Amino acid sequence: MPTCNRCKAPIVWITTPKGKHMPCDPPIVTAPTVVTAEGNVVKDRVTLGHVPHWASCTQVGQNLRFAKRSPKQAPKETPDDPQGSLL
Ligand SMILES: [Zn+2]
Repeated sequence: MPTCNRCKAPIVWITTPKGKHMPCDPPIVTAPTVVTAEGNVVKDRVTLGHVPHWASCTQVGQNLRFAKRSPKQAPKETPDDPQGSLL
């Protein structure tokens, strides 16, 4: 089984309909955001599938968020939390 090159957790690669390869956690679970075996990302609906590994990786979360922002700007104090707004 392949492993995450950052946190060494076991992962599975799911190929999306667009041909992208997405690292996911191996267990099939029901979660608000999952990737199905066909590679479709399902959000905001509890569905059976794999959780994207970037959501659970212990080593990459903070760095990924910072990388997406301008390095000259400080990150916001309140992180975006679309799942929390559903409650
Ligand atoms: Zn990882």
